[in-house]
Amino acid sequence: MFEYAPAPESRDIVDIQPSYGLFINGEFVEAQGEERAKTVNPATEEVLAEISYAGQADVDRAVRAAQDAYDGVWGRMPGRERAKYLFRIARIIQERAREFAVLESLDNGKPIRESRDVDVPLVAAHFFYYAGWADKLEHAGFGANPRPLGVAGQVIPWNFPLLMLAWKIAPALACGNTVVLKPAETTPLTALLFADVCRQAELPPGVVNIITGAGETGRMLVGREGVDKVAFTGSTEVGKQIARTLAGTGKKLTLELGGKAANIVFEDAPLDQAVEGIVNGIFFNQGHVCCAGSRLLVQESIQDELLDALKRRLATLRLGDPLDKNTDIGAINSAAQLDKIRELSRAGEEEGAERWSPPCELPDRGYWFPPTLFTGVAQSHRIAREEIFGPVLSVLTFRTPAEAIEKANNTPFGLSAGVWTEKGSRILWMAQRLRAGVVWANTFNRFDPASPFGGYKESGFGREGGRHGLEAYLDV
Ligand code: NAD
Repeated sequence: MFEYAPAPESRDIVDIQPSYGLFINGEFVEAQGEERAKTVNPATEEVLAEISYAGQADVDRAVRAAQDAYDGVWGRMPGRERAKYLFRIARIIQERAREFAVLESLDNGKPIRESRDVDVPLVAAHFFYYAGWADKLEHAGFGANPRPLGVAGQVIPWNFPLLMLAWKIAPALACGNTVVLKPAETTPLTALLFADVCRQAELPPGVVNIITGAGETGRMLVGREGVDKVAFTGSTEVGKQIARTLAGTGKKLTLELGGKAANIVFEDAPLDQAVEGIVNGIFFNQGHVCCAGSRLLVQESIQDELLDALKRRLATLRLGDPLDKNTDIGAINSAAQLDKIRELSRAGEEEGAERWSPPCELPDRGYWFPPTLFTGVAQSHRIAREEIFGPVLSVLTFRTPAEAIEKANNTPFGLSAGVWTEKGSRILWMAQRLRAGVVWANTFNRFDPASPFGGYKESGFGREGGRHGLEAYLDV
């Protein structure tokens, strides 16, 4: 019988330089800071490139360039003109989509099917969406003369490197701000390719500046005088540190932090669909997703049936080369993240939960973790409370809708939740009681640039996406 086995996506399409500088004032420049580090392909541990760690002098230079651009051409440009640049950027991303998808999969480890069909199309959609807002701000209920804030200092994580960049840069530019953005140290390459797109789009120098580096560079950027607004996506721990540092400085702040979402399946749910939603909820992007459905809450009466179906489905998932178009589960992004996932999984076993994975051969090199289920999980277990940020699902049960709500909300986080049931009235009842910024009904991990996204409680504050996402970048 004919077997469908397309060749892996070619990596020759991307032109990775051996080393990179910083993108400041419209050009790539050498960093003044001496520290450099290597970014690796997590699927092979092969070194992809050497990147610069921006030091204080580099941060100063980038912020000054952003201030000059804000005080100069960008700050005076009418919205309809800014829109043209955003549309141009969106179109160039579409034209270079394959290049972006391959580079993202190489640097991050995510399957090409996801970077090609989810990340990159959503990035282009985000720029198109906010391009449409740039000339309509006066008439959108923000008051007579909504004003940009000035220079935005933006720090992003490694799980959706290009998409998080788009969530930050598109609304900031649409509102007339200028930007200094720092990507995560393990995934800088698509942000640097985006810098090249800014050049290609002839965006005025200084409007977007990309500085690479680790936490120390981020710390210098958010604290730098002249940064008027800080937008951070990352761990709750670092988010809290930033909030403490900025208290009393007058800088505006939005935080998009961690999560521990409940994916709640009732006995009347369409079961096949729910199984797909559970798999997508936790194994999409190896579970490196802030809103991942990492706690499955299943109604007790269907526990056995659902778990049997889920295990059968997990046995069909293909783990391996991220560039292979058949791959469902790619590599874990870094050795450090793999250690964290292993440690929490060990804690799950030690605390008495039962661990299960389908038969799954892991490649010899690179960072890998098999899709994993824990049953018999108690709410007190670390795997039920802490964000694992990996392909690990903790299964808990409930009997009544009220018990489901109580368990779902029993977390310091409040980013997302999922509800699976045929009853429309129950969906509304649940959605009103779940303390989560997003509630998906009979689906999971759906995103649209027009929908605001963000958390309650320790998942952060502020919204990205939609009209609400503009408020984070305007003085109203
Ligand atoms: P992290 O907090 O370690 O790092 C995030 C970014 O902050 C990186 O660029 C890092 O270099 C930088 N950084 C580290 N220390 C800093 C400091 N003291 N000051 C300024 N910047 C600093 O998080 P991570 O491990 O890269 O990302 C995973 C986390 O991100 C998870 O908790 C996940 O839930 C969260 N996340 C949230 C959302 C959301 O929208 N809510 C989206 C994606 C990821």
